Amino acid sequence: MPISPLNYSRHSNNYLVDTMTNASSQNDFTHKCNAKGIKVTPQRALIYKILSESKLHPSAEQVYKDLTEFFPNASLDTVYRTLKTFADAGIVECVESFGPPARYDANTASHHHIHCINCGKILDIDKSELGEFDVPQSFIKKYCIQRKRLLLEGICLPCQKDAPAENLP
Ligand SMILES: [Zn+2]
Ligand SMILES: [Zn+2]
Repeated sequence: MPISPLNYSRHSNNYLVDTMTNASSQNDFTHKCNAKGIKVTPQRALIYKILSESKLHPSAEQVYKDLTEFFPNASLDTVYRTLKTFADAGIVECVESFGPPARYDANTASHHHIHCINCGKILDIDKSELGEFDVPQSFIKKYCIQRKRLLLEGICLPCQKDAPAENLP
């Protein structure tokens, strides 16, 4: 789903104020950056906003595409490095990798994912929809479990419509 340009103000000098529709998300972002010694620039704030408003766990390229609408001179390399910096600092997460490119998620709270194995779309599944699950005792003995996340894989509706019926399970 493309990001609505209506949320952005091209003519504003102050992206930080105008691009953050959710003030608490902006404060949270600024706070986390300050805590990690990451300088908050308008471009970085917009990269974070693009990521946090996307439900699709976009790659750096996808974030870059939306970013250049507002920062035409932005470089893809900068977006790569910014997302990596955010991920290293725990401000965003690199989600389950199905090979390159890396996919990112601004939602660092515990939640589950569903992945379309045909088009690569990754969406969130709310915890309330899937419920809690118990980690088997054998793993609790062997691992220090830090996060519980389930990954469902399947073929999304648009892909099912495109695929010949005999290819579907
Ligand atoms: Zn699909
Ligand atoms: Zn997610």
